[in-house]
Amino acid sequence: STAIEANGLVKRYGRRAAAALDDCSFRLPTGRISALVGPNGAGKSTLLTIAAGLSRPTSGSISVLGAAPGTHRAKVSYLAQSKPLYPQLSVADTLKVGAALNPERWDAAYASKIVEQGELDPKAKIRSLSGGQRTRVALALALGKRPELMLLDEPMADLDPLARHEMMGTLMADAAEHGTTVLMSSHIVTELADACDHLLLLGGGRIRLGGGIDDLIGAH
Ligand code: ADP
Ligand code: ADP
Repeated sequence: STAIEANGLVKRYGRRAAAALDDCSFRLPTGRISALVGPNGAGKSTLLTIAAGLSRPTSGSISVLGAAPGTHRAKVSYLAQSKPLYPQLSVADTLKVGAALNPERWDAAYASKIVEQGELDPKAKIRSLSGGQRTRVALALALGKRPELMLLDEPMADLDPLARHEMMGTLMADAAEHGTTVLMSSHIVTELADACDHLLLLGGGRIRLGGGIDDLIGAH
């Protein structure tokens, strides 16, 4: 089935601005890890914020989990490029905030497990953590609500290779275990190649290539 379906999606940030998204149509399958790749300015963040219900398209249509974006907020986790963690809170208290914000879906044991896999001290303050450790906490917050759909904007950007590897491992394990649909962006095509089985290539606001990796490889 389909997690996200877009038809003729257009986004202009100003009446006279060039389209950040220009007639984008695509279907994203459920239960897969999909890569949204393209150079800076291609429209990746724009597409993710629209799918998250944080920004409205200028025209065209998009449905997320079968409804308008933002409808199923409890079932969708969106991780922006800058991760909004409170520096003065401990890791444990940060997870309590996650529990309070998502009372009906929160899986405390699962969120703790993700933090423990990174060997993080639950009493450590967010401000004392490395970029990779912060990303792990952000991931625990995003996955702790057991979303059906994860939208991640350049999640690897600040991470060293080991932290990238660990993050991909966590996402892949989650997708395998819970069938979570993942859409994650990067401006580095190869970064997501190992983990993703579906590709959306954006350039200048247009979908340049899209489909299952196996189909795309088989077609050439
Ligand atoms: P990417 O995430 O691929 O780098 P973006 O979606 O951020 O691409 O940007 C696509 C285009 O839209 C760029 O030309 C960018 O400058 C423009 N843009 C993005 N956000 C805004 C905004 N809030 N206001 C005006 N222009 C924007
Ligand atoms: P990204 O490539 O992920 O969009 P940026 O650094 O381009 O990251 O954008 C950071 C923030 O600035 C985003 O909130 C984006 O919407 C906004 N932004 C990007 N381009 C523009 C622009 N031309 N005018 C106004 N805001 C912009």
